[in-house]
Amino acid sequence: MSEEKLEFQAEVSRLLEIVAKSLYSHEEVFLRELISNASDACDRLRYAALTRPELSDGDAYKVRLSVDKAARTLTIADNGIGMNRDDLVENLGTIARSGTLAAMQNLTGDAKKDMALIGQFGVGFYSAFVVADRVEVVSRKAGEDAGWRWISDGKGAYTVAEADDAPRGTAVTLHMAEGKDEFLEPARLRHIVKTYSDHIALPIVMAADAEDGKAGEDETLNRASALWVRSKSDISDDDYKEFYHHVGHAFDDPWLTIHYRAEGTLEYAVLLFVPTMQPFDLFQPERKHRVKLYVRRVFVTDDAPELVPAYLRFLRGVVDSEDLPLNVSREMLQRNPMLAKIRQGVTRRVLGELQRKAEDDPESYATFWEAFGPLLKEGVYEDADQRETLLKLLRFRSTTQEGWVTLDDYVARMREGQEAIYYIGGEDIEALKKSPQLEGFKARGVEVLLLTDPVDEFWTPAVRDYAGKPLKSATRVGTDLSGVPPVDEAEADAADDKGADGIDALIARFKSALEDEVKDVRVSRLLTESPVCLVADENDIDMHLERLLKQHNQLGGGASKRILEINPRHPVIGRLADLVQQGDETQVADLAHLLLDQARIVEGDQVPDPSAFSRRLMSALQRGLTLAA
Ligand code: ADP
Ligand code: MG
Repeated sequence: MSEEKLEFQAEVSRLLEIVAKSLYSHEEVFLRELISNASDACDRLRYAALTRPELSDGDAYKVRLSVDKAARTLTIADNGIGMNRDDLVENLGTIARSGTLAAMQNLTGDAKKDMALIGQFGVGFYSAFVVADRVEVVSRKAGEDAGWRWISDGKGAYTVAEADDAPRGTAVTLHMAEGKDEFLEPARLRHIVKTYSDHIALPIVMAADAEDGKAGEDETLNRASALWVRSKSDISDDDYKEFYHHVGHAFDDPWLTIHYRAEGTLEYAVLLFVPTMQPFDLFQPERKHRVKLYVRRVFVTDDAPELVPAYLRFLRGVVDSEDLPLNVSREMLQRNPMLAKIRQGVTRRVLGELQRKAEDDPESYATFWEAFGPLLKEGVYEDADQRETLLKLLRFRSTTQEGWVTLDDYVARMREGQEAIYYIGGEDIEALKKSPQLEGFKARGVEVLLLTDPVDEFWTPAVRDYAGKPLKSATRVGTDLSGVPPVDEAEADAADDKGADGIDALIARFKSALEDEVKDVRVSRLLTESPVCLVADENDIDMHLERLLKQHNQLGGGASKRILEINPRHPVIGRLADLVQQGDETQVADLAHLLLDQARIVEGDQVPDPSAFSRRLMSALQRGLTLAA
């Protein structure tokens, strides 16, 4: 077959540019990335060959570096799974991982910021073009006869053609760009491998003739043993860090490293990392975790949903079981009860470590919380077994405190006579703080938790109580703070005061005017400054959740009707009550509608009939101006 010339997907070209720019001071990581890929390819073939031994020739898996100084090339070759034509086009010509494209929108062109972002999706294969002006990949897929040669200068296009006599696996040859000769020096390469790839579990060897064309044995450059089975005392922070980069395809530093060996009925080694930065694909609908399952040092799958709960999908790393059978399908593995046990053990351990970190170093825990908090909230909703533990790990903003607060802090600060833990949900902290529904809480010094994660609407109803205190929404009807003494005695008297006379008659008029739009009209016991506010009835969907569902077109049926609460102590309400008592009802219906629309606006809801709203507003303004004149 003749040579095909193909163009990179537009985003690949963009990524290539950005990688080149942001890696200028860390050029040598190209080698780590290519070795990482080679090692993954061997892992995959090792597993596939368990059920299809004919795929492998029985040779030991390894990665081989060779240098040709005359040709100014460095080749990184592996005897792993290999790629056929379609694999080459798909893997090296496009960005396949979902979410990467969206994440790339956030790249700025500022090398330092982009570097941090790139950390979220790894630099990968394209880092080769940071040091090479031409890259040649020759590959033959295990089990197939045809080999393929892929060539590119990294400038928008590449060619693919059939290659004769390609050995199984992949060889990546870098034609070094001018000024990059250091990467043709065995001593430099040795050092880079030791620094970044020592943890790779298979041998990385340097071809014997790399130096001065001397014949002899290949030289192994790394320790070539699985890092996670080594004892902790034998592993440096840098070893852990580099292993994290490899296993997590990440570029940042691990925020937390969890390394232990479980012994007892089940034996397994665990080496898990919590990233520092939030990976870009954390909120993809698949909610896939990124922990690899090994069985007795053989990679099995990175797609065993049963291994780790979805809410811990920020974890990166490895679980290596001594007991699971190797020679079974992934489907069988997933139904294996041992996996459920491992999952339970790992979950407990991870949550325990998080708890410890939260106690020992609250500041650092706050950075974790800011990146991954919403996931633990998913856990509260999904994992009833761990609910208590998870609740202790949650952090909140609140109306009375700066910084993050825990539920325990909240409970310890509860006011005398306060019976529940109160929260309010919305999109934005600052807007929430100004909610009219909070006025009564403020008057009585009652703290309210401010919840702004979409997931808050799901876990809060799942938690009946914490430390014996029920969890209640402040935007629901029936909040009773009468047992809590007001902060300010003068206001206390005002609050006890029933307000305007004739309030019952006004309410009756409001009810008939707003009959089709609200469920009920009531006197509020909590408003101090605003004339009115909306609340949800006891068993109705909370208002913020309804808004969320509406945004995502998930709301079956119509919106629920709300209860309008009115503040009898507010001058506008007082004046209206007077007018009704005097038998002047001309404006009451219009003003009732205006007040309702105003409450909707404060809530962040839409005004259902904007033109009616503006007509009423104009006529009210006009009357106001006439009176003033
Ligand atoms: P990542 O390793 O994070 O998936 P890379 O850019 O490093 O991203 O590699 C892209 C893809 O190309 C890999 O996922 C793999 O499918 C394929 N690939 C790269 N190098 C090799 C190799 N040596 N052998 C087989 N496949 C490879
Ligand atoms: Mg890679």
